[in-house]
Amino acid sequence: MICPKRTSELLDLHLAPFKDKDPAWEIGVSRIAGRGVMATRSLKRGEIIFKDSPLLIGLAANEEDALNSCSVCLVVLPDTKFMCRQGCGLPVCSLCSKKKQHKVDCDMFKSWGPNEPDVANSVIIRLLCVARAINLTKEQRDLIYCLQANLDNNHRTEVRNAAKCFKRFPTDKKIIEIMNRTVAVLRTNGFDKTYDRSNDNQEFNYRALYPLFGVVNHDCIPNAYYTFEEKTNNMIVRAAVDIPEGFEITTTYTKLFTGNIARHLFLKMKKGFTCKCPRCSDPTEKGAYISGLYCRDTNCTGLVVPEITGLPHPNYNCLECKQKSTHAQMMKSQDFACGAINAKANSNSLRTLVQYLNEKSDAFIPSSNYVVIEAKFGVLQRLQQGREDCSEELASNTRLRYSRDITQVMDKLGLGDSLLRTQLVETLKREEERRAKRLAEEAEKQRKMAELQAKAAEADKILAAFEAEQAAEAAAAAASLPATDPSPLPPAATELA
Ligand SMILES: [Zn+2]
Ligand SMILES: [Zn+2]
Ligand SMILES: [Zn+2]
Ligand SMILES: [Zn+2]
Repeated sequence: MICPKRTSELLDLHLAPFKDKDPAWEIGVSRIAGRGVMATRSLKRGEIIFKDSPLLIGLAANEEDALNSCSVCLVVLPDTKFMCRQGCGLPVCSLCSKKKQHKVDCDMFKSWGPNEPDVANSVIIRLLCVARAINLTKEQRDLIYCLQANLDNNHRTEVRNAAKCFKRFPTDKKIIEIMNRTVAVLRTNGFDKTYDRSNDNQEFNYRALYPLFGVVNHDCIPNAYYTFEEKTNNMIVRAAVDIPEGFEITTTYTKLFTGNIARHLFLKMKKGFTCKCPRCSDPTEKGAYISGLYCRDTNCTGLVVPEITGLPHPNYNCLECKQKSTHAQMMKSQDFACGAINAKANSNSLRTLVQYLNEKSDAFIPSSNYVVIEAKFGVLQRLQQGREDCSEELASNTRLRYSRDITQVMDKLGLGDSLLRTQLVETLKREEERRAKRLAEEAEKQRKMAELQAKAAEADKILAAFEAEQAAEAAAAAASLPATDPSPLPPAATELA
């Protein structure tokens, strides 16, 4: 472990531009692993813990057909003539071609002699983020060396492959070592246009190293979350929950909605450690049952969850009848559910998928299982683009229902704030407002209808009264007829008289 004190000094230098005189964090010895970032005071949910800026940032260039972004400002350029005319092999916008950063990059790559300087080559463009480490100050480079690096057999491959794209690639061992080390540090602590290292499902389009964030340890229920400032690409880290003084700040390196085994495998393979956080030590995952499957005994209604063994293929236990199942047996149900739901997700009808999730999938996979949660995420994302073949009402009900389902899972896991939660809560609020408006409109319609009916009834009453009056008048007229218009006396009476 590198001394926390030296790490702190180097981080202070790196973060000096932010001029935070009373930081809410310090580097300390972690209970999770090695060093960590600790809260120096109690932090309220939502409060900013720290800001970090990228020590290294560059284009990820991992898609061959999307290489037309400026290597300095990272903005996407019109699809023609974006390569530097000086022959450095880098794409650059006309404004940035005059900036100091490009001068440094340009001189370096030109001196290495790219084989085809006018053709955008993903290997060259991708290497820039790594090669920039060569021109950092000594302290900045020391900071890179301070960070964890997985120095496995593959970490030299990138630089070795890049060397083939230049005529005079450096042979100096020290320079090659800096680049190889930087690749390893980036792979362990960096961002690389990926969803992997994200508790927010937010896309990050670049390759970058945020040194302070690199020291933050992992927890499958992180107590902090981050966002990026669009213009500067600075990172802002906030408290996801209230954090007491002295507690360690944590983030997650994995997707949140994957089960215990999938997270375990990812962390082991990609990050080289075994997580022992409370969620990983609880087969029910805090009662959220993200890995839960139905018991194979058709008479049992219990859920089956993987045993906590630290092995990639653990047995499963039914929480109700206690029956044991092998990993292979349970994977059959999981894979079947995955296949069935994905088939509906890949069909063109969103309505079919929604109906399947609402009415069918529950028969063979619990709705708490991550396959279902991921499918619901997929639906919400598609609904954001448009409602496809769903009716207005189905789209609205689905948004409401799925956002509610997912936030409930987040609550069960004990997850605090995140960008994702903000988005879900906004969707919920919007749908609830829309629903309230619809209800109000419906009520207004009813009220108007009732008013009309009342008026009609009133009119009927008036009419009835009028008619009654008329009838009465007619009757009265008939009764008084002899007085006003005497009919001739019956002959008999005349005779009598
Ligand atoms: Zn630019
Ligand atoms: Zn250039
Ligand atoms: Zn964990
Ligand atoms: Zn059972």
